Amino acid sequence: MKKIYLDYAAATPMDESVTEVMQVYFHKNFYNPSSTYLDGRAVNEVLQKARHDIAIQLGAKTDEIVFTAGATEANNLAIQGVMKNYLDAEVLVSSIEHESVLAPAALFAHRLIPVDKRGRVDLAKLESMITDRTVLVSVGLVNNEIGVVQPLAEISQILNRLSKTRGANSLPLLLHSDAAQAGNYLDLHVSRLGVDLLSLNGGKIYGPKQSGALYIRAGVTVQPLILGGGQERGLRSGTENVAANVGLAAALTIAQTQRLNEARRLLQIRQEFIDLIHELIPAANINQGGKHSAPHIISLTIHGCDNERLMMELDESGIQVATGSACSASSEEPSHVLAAIGLDEAAARSTIRISLGRQTTSTDIKRATQQIARLTDSQR
Ligand code: PLP
Repeated sequence: MKKIYLDYAAATPMDESVTEVMQVYFHKNFYNPSSTYLDGRAVNEVLQKARHDIAIQLGAKTDEIVFTAGATEANNLAIQGVMKNYLDAEVLVSSIEHESVLAPAALFAHRLIPVDKRGRVDLAKLESMITDRTVLVSVGLVNNEIGVVQPLAEISQILNRLSKTRGANSLPLLLHSDAAQAGNYLDLHVSRLGVDLLSLNGGKIYGPKQSGALYIRAGVTVQPLILGGGQERGLRSGTENVAANVGLAAALTIAQTQRLNEARRLLQIRQEFIDLIHELIPAANINQGGKHSAPHIISLTIHGCDNERLMMELDESGIQVATGSACSASSEEPSHVLAAIGLDEAAARSTIRISLGRQTTSTDIKRATQQIARLTDSQR
């Protein structure tokens, strides 16, 4: 029986061409990019080319990209790195952020920006929450549990308008976004998004796990989290992972080149899933941002079913889904994202996440929906 993988929001298989371009940096060109002999300098050039390729995809300058080991580190560098400069200031984060944004924000004065029933940030509320102490606002581009896409450009306009009313010597007002779930489907052009800081993740875009980057707009001051040899312009010490960074650049370039076609294809498959589920389980509910939904994530609530049991029974029949965010190691607590959009604990414990990707077909979706309906029939 063919396995059906429907958890692309947790991990994506590496694109074979990405694996291929990385190989040579494990073996023949293993050199430390800080070494000054010819082969070391050549590897450093490759590293800078990878940085340049990422910058091109973001419409950024090459020296605005800092490599990290994944999105967790990029989010920590963005939030701790900015907030350590302004210890009396405050950071605002949306209430549905990933833990890797919420946890560093909790180290500083912070408040949570509420979202509406679809998971979208309440813009009027956000504006009213900004005070002279607010230095940073962090809102993820695509949520990893419900797939809602946030209006970053509109948030950026609000911040720009408010920062103009601040005096010359006052605090900056910066916008950070965790774009870990966005790279396969959305435009990541930093000036169109209006962000000052943007986190990327290779492991979600068919690149290597533990690869990532933080875009830091020129002029924004960030304190490093990792001190040592001063690599990455002093922002992230440690010998660079050339293979991972080259892999990230290749994966991002492929993902951004294919994104419109892949988004169109998956939006259709996603709709097929939703239509079939409504037909087979009329009482089922899809938690989504309506037209503001990413094409790959479906959050499905089937009242009365136990999501852990359903996930395990689906697994036994060769269908892999998630009960929430696999990015969080503890699944004991009901999801803060589902709570923020108004689901009670019972509904949250009856919710599974299905996430689609490059290998997902309409046939997979038919088999998965039928199996979900069959397995939950006795529980409903
Ligand atoms: N942010 C979002 C939205 C995610 O979905 C994930 C998922 O894992 C992360 C951050 C953390 O990424 P990583 O575990 O690769 O550091």
